[in-house]
Amino acid sequence: MSTVLELPVLRERGQREVFCGLTGIVWLHRKMQDAFFLVVGSRTCAHLVQSAAGVMIFAEPRFATAILGERDLAGLADANDELDRVVGQLLARRPDIATLFLVGSCPSEVIKLDLGRAAERLSETHMPRVQVLNYSGSGIETTFTQGEDACLNSLVPHLPAAADDTPSLLVVGTLADVVEDQFRRLFDELGVGPVHFFPPRRARDLPPIGRGTRVLLAQPFLSDTARSLVARGATLLASPYPLGVQGTTAWLGAAATAFGVSADTLERVTAPSARRANTALARYRPWLEGRRLFLFPDSQLEIPIARFLHEECGMTLVEVGTPYLDRLLMDAELARLPEGVQLSEGQDVDRQLDRCREAQPDLTVCGLGLANPLEAEGLRTKWSIELVFSPVQGYEQAGDLAELFARPLDRAQRLAV
Ligand code: SF4
Repeated sequence: MSTVLELPVLRERGQREVFCGLTGIVWLHRKMQDAFFLVVGSRTCAHLVQSAAGVMIFAEPRFATAILGERDLAGLADANDELDRVVGQLLARRPDIATLFLVGSCPSEVIKLDLGRAAERLSETHMPRVQVLNYSGSGIETTFTQGEDACLNSLVPHLPAAADDTPSLLVVGTLADVVEDQFRRLFDELGVGPVHFFPPRRARDLPPIGRGTRVLLAQPFLSDTARSLVARGATLLASPYPLGVQGTTAWLGAAATAFGVSADTLERVTAPSARRANTALARYRPWLEGRRLFLFPDSQLEIPIARFLHEECGMTLVEVGTPYLDRLLMDAELARLPEGVQLSEGQDVDRQLDRCREAQPDLTVCGLGLANPLEAEGLRTKWSIELVFSPVQGYEQAGDLAELFARPLDRAQRLAV
């Protein structure tokens, strides 16, 4: 373990290989079941969202793209008129929509389409039935998990003010419903509460916020949202993220401490789940122990994942890349990394690929764009996007999380036989 200040960080600025923030629509629309996401963008944007979501043709999807045509892009047509018409049609056809997000893209930003003003105008027209909000999912200088940060941040000004300063817990970051239910049970057993989750399952059921609110982040990529919640009076609890057994215990422990729950109660409530999770982890540890790991910057989950794979699975960290290093959100994780680990922030993809090739790690965690070329060169890879598409938080998922990384190593061994 190291003290945070000692960790050397290699900062790079150059060509990057990441998806854009539109990707977040895939998990956000599953979570908020009364919300619709209307991307204002190009055919490329439509293609990205559809292929990422693997659209089911029988379902009524809760996302779509209003495609900016050549006349819009050339400034020959008033894109606002067209947007008002499309939104009117959509809302007339879909009475199930209670919150509509207008999601900006690179093309809408390039032509400086003011979606903030459009959202205000459309909200005036369609309230109280539908609230219209906006955020940007543009890929200009962002990484794909920032889409969730931007979306949640757009909701913060609309959270109702808490009636008083009574302590309450706000768990922030999209969790699969099954994981949310598991955590709610554990908080109940600990006597921590009332507990609210943000985003909620229905976007119109926004949790209250005030000086009694204690914020516990479930995802490490919510920098803007966390700061906006603090600006509204909430207190941010410093904690590692609930990945793996130790991460989950520390995370629950941060809430327990804030609510005056004793260490004995924490131990009594968490021990059975932690025991089961350790048994599940033990199955995969032989695959991972002593193996060398290289993480490219992509999902912003790299540091907590590296901590889990080192601390609980015995992997050796070669390089831990992250798109951004926000010390406010990451110090509790950094303190648990081994001394001397190579951290890198940002990316110069060619230089990083050179370092990876030279190191020849046993496993490389990276985005989809890099995985296939690296596999072709004989390296084993894991797509980082799976970490946001699969439920991985909490005790019950600790074994599955380890399995995600053990699987490519297992497959490589089988192919070699
Ligand atoms: S928002 Fe930008 S990066 Fe994302 S799909 Fe559209 S054009 Fe591409």
